[in-house]
Amino acid sequence: MKKISYLLIIIAIVSGFYLENLEKSRLETEKRACILGMKMIQNACIIYNIEVGKFPENTKALIDKKYLRRIDRCPLNEKYKFTHSGSFYEIKCPIHGNIMFDVR
Ligand SMILES: [Zn+2]
Repeated sequence: MKKISYLLIIIAIVSGFYLENLEKSRLETEKRACILGMKMIQNACIIYNIEVGKFPENTKALIDKKYLRRIDRCPLNEKYKFTHSGSFYEIKCPIHGNIMFDVR
C-alpha cells in the first residue's frame, strides 16, 4: 500500500512538471505567432515603400493596394496598433510587445 502511494506522489509531481512545460511552450508559441503577424505587416510596409515610393500612412493603405488581404490579429485576438512618427514606425501588440523600424 505504501508503494502505491509513493508511486501516486511521483506521478503527480511528474505530471505537474509536464503541465507546466506544456503551458510554457503554449505561451512561447503564441508569442512567436504574434511576432510573425507583426513582421508580416512590417514586410508589407517595406514592399509598399519599394513599389509606391513612400511608406504607408496606415494599415488600410496596405489592404486597399492589396499588399495584405487583411490585418490579422494576435493569437490572443488583440488588435495590432500601427503608428508612425516621421520615419519611425511601430507595430504593437498590447500583450506581446512591439517591433519598431526606422525607414530612413
Ligand atoms: Zn500578441
